[in-house]
Amino acid sequence: LNRRLAAFGTTIFAEMSALAVRTGAINLGQGFPDTDGPEEIREAAVRALRDGRGNQYPPGPGVPELRNAVAAHQRERYGLTYDPDTEVLVTAGATEAIAAALIALVEPGDEVIALEPYYDSYAASIAIAGGTRVPVTLRPGDGPHGGAADRRFHLDLDELRDAVTDRTRLILLNTPHNPTGTVLSREELAAVAALAVERDLLVVTDEVYEHLVFDGPAHLPIASFPGMRERTVTISSAGKTFSFTGWKVGWVTAVPELVTAVRSAKQFLTYVSSGPFQYAVAEALALPQAYFDGLRDELRAKRDLLSSGLAAAGFEVYRPAGTYFVTTDIRPLGEDDGFAFCRALPERAGVVAIPNAVFYDHREQGAPFVRFAFCKRKVVIEEAIERLSKLR
Ligand code: PMP
Ligand code: GLN
Repeated sequence: LNRRLAAFGTTIFAEMSALAVRTGAINLGQGFPDTDGPEEIREAAVRALRDGRGNQYPPGPGVPELRNAVAAHQRERYGLTYDPDTEVLVTAGATEAIAAALIALVEPGDEVIALEPYYDSYAASIAIAGGTRVPVTLRPGDGPHGGAADRRFHLDLDELRDAVTDRTRLILLNTPHNPTGTVLSREELAAVAALAVERDLLVVTDEVYEHLVFDGPAHLPIASFPGMRERTVTISSAGKTFSFTGWKVGWVTAVPELVTAVRSAKQFLTYVSSGPFQYAVAEALALPQAYFDGLRDELRAKRDLLSSGLAAAGFEVYRPAGTYFVTTDIRPLGEDDGFAFCRALPERAGVVAIPNAVFYDHREQGAPFVRFAFCKRKVVIEEAIERLSKLR
């Protein structure tokens, strides 16, 4: 293994899911639903396979049906107009989109700013692209009302501004944010956008949790801010929105020059993405609003269930505004090492969780934080809470 990758070992998600299988513990680690997405969308995939749609190499940018559906989604929800032929690219999940964007846009030695804690593939993709990672740490604190109920991790805009140098090429953004559950506010996004314009930076924004915003206004794409359309690569995927994480269908929207760049990298990574699922995801994006509302409401109830269960079990809880993860602080339980805690948790309580420290360069900053996923059936969350309540 070369030096660029050796530092990254095995992804924490594979490691912790293997631990769950080995110990029979409840897996609240890796974020995947334990119930599959809509039956009618599964049927659409079966129909595509049976009818021979997409069984041979689909077009490089993705099948027209899906590109049209992505363009319609961005237009109807966010007022962002993208030409499906030149401004949309289908990828093998958001993961490939992120990697391809960085490989395409970063020169060796360029600096890439990422919000820390960051989703684990960001660091590896920046390294593969030959870039230098510059983490800007989200700081835990009380929310705007000063109380524990709206405690959140927030972006320090001065720290972000100070992180920009003459070598900065792009800001890699993620909102709603995994693992903290923070949703960047309109003001925060406006400040990031103004900085990007002022310093002539690109923004690559990972919005895979766009439909999982529980409080306040709906998701806001940074591409919709003044001066941002031409410098933003927006990434999303079907995994979270439709509960098909195994399908690996993602997409990019950006101006033609940026989409062409990302496609130049994608063509040599996977050439094209799997065909039949693209037709099914095109139908999924056109589901009625009730589907999206239903998913959000269901997950909001699960967020509340798990958040209050964890608080009752003695954790300090950062109730997330978005995503399907709750970050907790384990210090009230007399623990301060999330790694050790998560390694021992299957034995102690029969539950698997993720130590947030793996998402930090400044590991000591992340040490006391542990993430639990709530994209699971209610009975599973209840059983996990029951088990965790015996910790203290
Ligand atoms: N970005 C974030 C923030 C994620 O949590 C995930 C996990 N699904 C991904 C990207 C990867 O998405 P996909 O499965 O579509 O590759
Ligand atoms: N995004 C999921 C999570 O954060 C996991 C995806 C993966 O395993 N790579 O848990």
